[in-house]
Amino acid sequence: MARDTGPQCKQCRREGQKLFLKGERCLTDKCGVERRSYPPGEHGRGRMKQSEYRVQLREKQKARRYYGVLEKQFHGYYVKASRQAGITGENLLALLECRLDNVLVRLGFAASRRQSRQLILHGHWTVNGRRVNIPSYQVRPGDVITIKAETPATQVVRDATELTGQIPPWLQADHESLSAKVLRKPERREVAAPVQEQLIVELYSK
Ligand code: SF4
Repeated sequence: MARDTGPQCKQCRREGQKLFLKGERCLTDKCGVERRSYPPGEHGRGRMKQSEYRVQLREKQKARRYYGVLEKQFHGYYVKASRQAGITGENLLALLECRLDNVLVRLGFAASRRQSRQLILHGHWTVNGRRVNIPSYQVRPGDVITIKAETPATQVVRDATELTGQIPPWLQADHESLSAKVLRKPERREVAAPVQEQLIVELYSK
């Protein structure tokens, strides 16, 4: 499975904001954006020419990096979103938000999407009683997510729950039994991603 293994702090610095890709470290003063608040690279502190295309491209890259999705798959989500009824940008965000790796982060069961993906790939989670080892698995309303019985990852997951902020209202989590339920699809105002989805739609519809 192809995945982005590049330095994560550089991705935040490129986008000029914290994308919280590293879990606990993002909450400390070791954060790359806190330490060096300019883009990486030799010309990072030089003047950057702004254009409409550049703004749209950066927004798309930011969304991709935030959700940890590669370009081909991200474009696939856009195509799927554009075929659905409703507003394409909102459909796109809902598809990204309903990925199992993202859902585990929102539930507080993983400190970062990278950790979440690893836990899923190693087969530590089940959906409706069946083991799921596909990070991009789309959760549906009514799905019940539980950690596999007696898995050695339990402590890692419990540690992650300590960092949890607010759980979005479309999800229900039980941090004692490490299980959760998907109540419904997320609405746009419930998606905490720092993304202006309209700019992504404008970029792809050129
Ligand atoms: Fe981004 Fe986290 Fe690195 Fe800060 S510590 S730059 S938020 S990945």
